[in-house]
Amino acid sequence: MSFEIFNLSQELLKALQKNNYKEATSIQNEVIPLIKEKHDILAQAQTGSGKTASFVIPIVEFLKEEKILKKAKIKVLVLAPTRELTLQIADTFSNMTQFFFKPLSIVSVIGGENIGNQLLKIQKGCDIVVATSGRLLDIIDKKQIDLSNLQYLVLDEADKMLDLGFAQELDTILSAIPKNRQNLLFSATYSKKVIDIASKITKNPKKIKI
Ligand code: AMP
Repeated sequence: MSFEIFNLSQELLKALQKNNYKEATSIQNEVIPLIKEKHDILAQAQTGSGKTASFVIPIVEFLKEEKILKKAKIKVLVLAPTRELTLQIADTFSNMTQFFFKPLSIVSVIGGENIGNQLLKIQKGCDIVVATSGRLLDIIDKKQIDLSNLQYLVLDEADKMLDLGFAQELDTILSAIPKNRQNLLFSATYSKKVIDIASKITKNPKKIKI
């Protein structure tokens, strides 16, 4: 189906066109309306399905309508298992918002890169943080990040995060963020570990399998 049916802004449609996204993929057709309706999501989707844009599109469309604040507050936290995936997700956020009149500020918080630069960007004010759990925890421990305005939590490749042993880190991050938020969990597989974490994180999620 074409993206026209989702009632998206002209700025976002222009970005989709520039990226040569003509038709929405199956996961996008399922997930975009549900996120717009404010449901929690538990989606089984593989890399290559278009899963990243399926959460980026409705989130940026929502943020676009938010009032302009003097200093941006973090409203979206995306957690991913690897640096590479984190950077790809941040890239998709920038790409989809490139024509917005009010640009959104997106910060990647990953290990192996200068923490000072990341802290500086966070302190200046940002809308979206895309992070690996270890580096985010370092920053939470330093009390250098305000997550009290968070509205969306996205866990991408949750199965991989758990396989890599990040369950404990995830628990600590969960205890540091507001309880009232929309939760979007994506995983290539549904193992017991994923189901357990999903039941801890999501509330009455809509379940999607592609
Ligand atoms: P992902 O599954 O999120 O890793 O996306 C896989 C690739 O598909 C990325 O290169 C995206 O840019 C691309 N992609 C996502 N959605 C669409 C779409 N609707 N049309 C064309 N390409 C897409």
